[in-house]
Amino acid sequence: MSLADKISRQVQSIPRSGIRDFFELVLGRDDVISLGVGEPDFSAPWHIREAAIFSLERGETSYTSNLGLEKLRRAISGYVAGHFGVEYSADREVLVTVGVSEALDLACRAILNPGDEFIYHEPCYVSYDPSVTLAYGVPVPVPARPEDGFAVRAAEIEKRITPKTRAVMLNFPTNPTGAVMGRAELEEIAELCVAKDLIVISDEIYSELVYDEGYRHVSIAALPGMRDRTILLHGFSKAFAMTGFRLGYSCAPPEITEAMMKIHQYSMLCAPITSQVAALEALEHGAPSVEAMRRDYRRRRDLIVREFNAMGLPCHLPGGAFYAFPDIRGTGLDSKAFATGLLESQNVAAVPGDAFGPGGEGFLRCCYATDVELIKEALGGFRRFLAEVGG
Ligand code: PLP
Repeated sequence: MSLADKISRQVQSIPRSGIRDFFELVLGRDDVISLGVGEPDFSAPWHIREAAIFSLERGETSYTSNLGLEKLRRAISGYVAGHFGVEYSADREVLVTVGVSEALDLACRAILNPGDEFIYHEPCYVSYDPSVTLAYGVPVPVPARPEDGFAVRAAEIEKRITPKTRAVMLNFPTNPTGAVMGRAELEEIAELCVAKDLIVISDEIYSELVYDEGYRHVSIAALPGMRDRTILLHGFSKAFAMTGFRLGYSCAPPEITEAMMKIHQYSMLCAPITSQVAALEALEHGAPSVEAMRRDYRRRRDLIVREFNAMGLPCHLPGGAFYAFPDIRGTGLDSKAFATGLLESQNVAAVPGDAFGPGGEGFLRCCYATDVELIKEALGGFRRFLAEVGG
């Protein structure tokens, strides 16, 4: 038996991330302008970095409780109550994790039995489908269509519910489309989940980054009947520009938190103490920095979306996150050919939409959490490439 055959079937069955594959092409090229990686171009605010430095200076280098530092859990509970309007007990319902990535894995492993079906809207963040598969669940995609602004419809979810359906995944604002959903649309999904007794995992990682006047982010956890059937996932990577700190958390009823904690204590033990101290500082004093970054992203969003539309690549106005998702179907190229051609001809990198599922084919994900001058240069590259391919 070859070594490749000794790899578990579950792992063999999941693909490598299409983002990684594309970025292997980018590596090794000089001077690429990248709209590719989904992370802020800002460093974490200085006071947050300083809190981490001071913590190290004090010699705080130990494990923490499995659940996370008590002070941090209390701060998370207060923040979530203010930001989402949902109350969670810091002692029994908050778990500090290594990013939303770990929280997602724990949530899937905590609730899925082999063969349980898990519905998610697609195109979506690359981890959902593999996380379900690795937990021996069956991923069931639901299309989130461009004509609906990439929102997901309750009726589409309902069509895919079977006796084996265990859970529904929601992520608004969405990576890669920037889609948001209003209260009324979410209420329909909430009613369905209550009627069918389903759990919802709600990935709220972009929830601070919403841009439109009068739009207020609503978490499905805050809707009637949902608090006790939702696993709310959130973290510090995006709004606080803390990707490298690798810190996130889940808020869920005690039974689910306890189940997730059991896995976490054996697989991770606890999140790093330095990052937890930095996260506490972020929650206590980070709001002005988050607001300043949000305003900046909004200006960049307006610029990039206006320019894509002007050059003939239709682009819906993303209500949140920091991704534009222009439609390149009019060029006659598929998204891989477009992204590869753009990279080779103009040294501009954007991720082919099909990396986020088949529903992303015909689109490109362009992260605008990038310096505005670089965005302008990248847009120049798009224009020249379109002229080359006659689009
Ligand atoms: N969820 C979504 C929708 C994301 O876009 C990302 C990162 O790109 C993550 C989760 C991972 O977040 P973390 O850095 O907290 O692991």
